[in-house]
Amino acid sequence: MRALVKARAEPGLWLEDVPAPEIGINDVLIRVRKTGICGTDLHIHSWDAWAQKTIPVPLVIGHEFVGEIVEVGSNVNDFTTGDIVSGEGHVVCGRCRNCMAGRRHLCAHSIGLGVQRPGAFAELVALPMTNIWHHWDGVDEDVASIFDPFGNAVHTALAFPVLGEDVLVTGAGPIGCMAVAVARHAGARHIVISDPNAYRCGLALQMGATAAIDPTKDGFEEIQRDLGMTEGFDVALEMSGQAAALRGLLPAMAHGGRVALLGIQTGEVPIDFTPIVFNMLTLKGIYGREMYETWYQMAVMVQAGLDISPVITHRFSHLDFEEAFSIAASGGSGKVILDWTDIP
Ligand code: NAD
Ligand code: ZN
Repeated sequence: MRALVKARAEPGLWLEDVPAPEIGINDVLIRVRKTGICGTDLHIHSWDAWAQKTIPVPLVIGHEFVGEIVEVGSNVNDFTTGDIVSGEGHVVCGRCRNCMAGRRHLCAHSIGLGVQRPGAFAELVALPMTNIWHHWDGVDEDVASIFDPFGNAVHTALAFPVLGEDVLVTGAGPIGCMAVAVARHAGARHIVISDPNAYRCGLALQMGATAAIDPTKDGFEEIQRDLGMTEGFDVALEMSGQAAALRGLLPAMAHGGRVALLGIQTGEVPIDFTPIVFNMLTLKGIYGREMYETWYQMAVMVQAGLDISPVITHRFSHLDFEEAFSIAASGGSGKVILDWTDIP
């Protein structure tokens, strides 16, 4: 089958013919239709320090996808050929304390699709049946292909109650923009987006942000005054992975404010503990999606009218993956989608 492969321990990706995945009795084989390009895929493409120490070579990469089931293992009863599905990209062990307690998102041994096991940028992808999400009727196929990062946005945006609250989102990448739409849907009052990238601030405003700032030029005082906020942000969603964003948001929080941290910091971050302690802030790390409560929340919110489709700004054939990756890395895009239905 055709697949996008990290074939060598150097920058780049290669479209190659590789053996199709084999499935076990509990697995499902899926013909991939659309895939989303994630920041993780960009790291693997550029072969940075994280990728060098994480990715086994060769590896079929990619984890954001939608496709159609073409084969199920003999033990699989809940899914059948023709089902339109996405996959939860964290394959859990099923045996650790958290898995046994039903808290699979806290598995101590999860394996990443397209990171540690063969991924979805391919004609076919295999996953255990416990990792399959069967899409509800009527979900747009492109939106279905990005349920994975949409889930990161939902998991973070709903980590704390936002109804009536003033919310700060730092980082208007694809996930930050989707989190804006989710917080808006969930009834936030003001949602301020902070990002030095003007294009992405524009996208966040389109998706429901009240106001945008460039944190390299402005602090939060002026925007808070303009919006009539007197006590700081109630909830912040850190979605940039930048130290400056985390350091900058803490003093802008209301007393008792809550901060959900999704952005992955690449180094140690010195922070001033004064607002954390004296203003009694709560900080919570967020990883992945809850299995499968987050998936359920995504499906019902889409059904109830939440529209995240504006975050998808570019669509390419998988044949043009180089161009797609360079646009995704440029900062001049929201989510970039690859089409795999045009394989001859
Ligand atoms: P992205 O890199 O596309 O977006 C990050 C945005 O932050 C960019 O638009 C950038 O301009 C902006 N930014 C840079 N400096 C900033 C600053 N000082 N203040 C505010 N914004 C600033 O990322 P994404 O794909 O949207 O993902 C968001 C973050 O979440 C990334 O750090 C990613 O690694 C992380 N992530 C975490 C998980 C998890 O499970 N925890 C899953 C997926 C992604
Ligand atoms: Zn486990």
